[in-house]
Amino acid sequence: MSTPTLELDRRPVRIGVTCGTQLQTTPFGEQPTVSLNMRYVRAVARAGGLPLPLVPSGADPVELIAALDGLVLTGGGDLDPAIYGEEAVDQVYGVDRERDDFEFALLAAAEAQGVPVLAICRGLQLVNVSRAGTLIQHVDDHELHWQTTPSHEGAHTVAIDPASALAAMVGPEDLLVNSYHHQAIDTLGDGLRVVADAGGLPEAFETADGLITGIQWHPEQMVEHHPRQFALFEAFVRFAQQRDRQSPTSDPTSWSNSHV
Ligand code: MN
Repeated sequence: MSTPTLELDRRPVRIGVTCGTQLQTTPFGEQPTVSLNMRYVRAVARAGGLPLPLVPSGADPVELIAALDGLVLTGGGDLDPAIYGEEAVDQVYGVDRERDDFEFALLAAAEAQGVPVLAICRGLQLVNVSRAGTLIQHVDDHELHWQTTPSHEGAHTVAIDPASALAAMVGPEDLLVNSYHHQAIDTLGDGLRVVADAGGLPEAFETADGLITGIQWHPEQMVEHHPRQFALFEAFVRFAQQRDRQSPTSDPTSWSNSHV
């Protein structure tokens, strides 16, 4: 039964949001539990999406993506450096190979099915490595990129390529961003274009078809104080919604274009 206030053609825009796992002491002893910062799902919901947390349950990632309109790859611990052919340095932390493998499979399925991807922090690093890129395992002057001020405050600015999809979403002016990363892009992955940087350090990239945008900062921490950061989620959800109404073979357009 529908209520009179519902638009008949309105379907929820289903946005998958990846989670970490952690061992937690429970009444059953120490058990693996889901870990997800609520600010990701609240930002997606506030932008009009239906956030659906995704965990490595054994379900087929191809089927999970088929049930979604968009995918957010969230932040978290470091990727296993073995994936890009390196031994871990001492500062590498939080490696979870099960999560890595699950998210690589989700990303591959999203690309195969034309589902838009917003890749945040660790997510950006994962997209880069999936395309034969590498990471700086520990940025020497990383204090600049790991702020101690509140997370909704900016730590540094990024210069945005005015001709990019990112610029169409948040505007071409320098953008104040927060910063919580001790790793960074070293070799850029195939088919990625850097569209924002901080003094030469890549802070955002996108694919030519506009389906993947990767950002090194954490917009979900800033949406309540910074409209340009919220615009990122709004544009992503709107693009995911419009994709849902197109045939899978239609020409992919940048999700930023849906915002202008
Ligand atoms: Mn930074």
